[in-house]
Amino acid sequence: MFGAIEAGGTKFVCGIGDDRGRIVDQITIPTTVPEETLGRVAEYFQNKAIRALGLGCFGPLDLDPASPTYGFLTSTPKLAWRGFNILANLRRRLAVPIAIDTDVNAAILAEHRWGAAQGLHTALYLTVGTGIGGGILVEGQILHGMMHPEAGHVIVRRAAGDNFPGVCPAHGDCLEGMASGPAIEKRWGSKGRDLPLDHPAWDLEAGYLAQGLVTYICVLSPQRILLGGGVMQQADLFPRIRQKVREMLNGYIQRPEIVANIEEYIVPPGLGTKSGLCGGLALAMKATEARKEG
Ligand code: ADP
Ligand code: ZN
Repeated sequence: MFGAIEAGGTKFVCGIGDDRGRIVDQITIPTTVPEETLGRVAEYFQNKAIRALGLGCFGPLDLDPASPTYGFLTSTPKLAWRGFNILANLRRRLAVPIAIDTDVNAAILAEHRWGAAQGLHTALYLTVGTGIGGGILVEGQILHGMMHPEAGHVIVRRAAGDNFPGVCPAHGDCLEGMASGPAIEKRWGSKGRDLPLDHPAWDLEAGYLAQGLVTYICVLSPQRILLGGGVMQQADLFPRIRQKVREMLNGYIQRPEIVANIEEYIVPPGLGTKSGLCGGLALAMKATEARKEG
């Protein structure tokens, strides 16, 4: 058995599961201050006899193993967690190999092993929820680069007549600032869940998300894009986004994935809402595999 943590700004979901991505037990712990939250996390795993633990974590994170602040949360808006060494804290509490990555990198890893990105070498998992974030698989490897991608913070072109300032604390009107769940709520004074299907919010939302996707398609050339997160529960968004992506690309990328089969190109996650927690399992498996190799 492996342990998995999906660490978010409002809750930590902890679970145990096997090497086929099956979760057999899980609990949810509210995110408060680090010591209290991680104390409860460690308590949960204490007697579970796990071989390794995978932590898919909110960020931004320092994921450069050569950096003196490797495993730290860096510029997170959750102030109690800013500059906190979450990896070392967990390692002190639990004597098993622990692997860390972003929540969305964990999710694309799980989708690659067990979900909608199986058999592909280059794919993107984008979550559209409280924030917007992307996990990226490139040529079979999870992309970290300098630290890790921050795909939600790409710059978008404003829709004509749209004066909404955006909600990103760092940038205002980046993609996350314009199209995250809190952006919808602030813009329209109502949660996305409560806005009717024919509300103008959805056309605008699809337009901004499509802009983001066009950027990712042009830069990364993914073989498939998976869209998850709370906002994507509005299933009507999928057809709207697909149509707008096609319009924006305007025939420039002549591939059957875009031109003929876009329904199979921009898709929901294969693991549904389990991508994140299964991502923890996939990371834990990687931790034991790396140990064998090393
Ligand atoms: P988090 O990003 O915090 O992990 P979620 O992915 O569940 O959590 O995203 C939460 C966001 O999704 C909230 O802003 C919420 O208003 C929005 N949301 C949840 N359900 C829906 C829905 N059916 N339609 C549109 N937005 C939704
Ligand atoms: Zn931003």
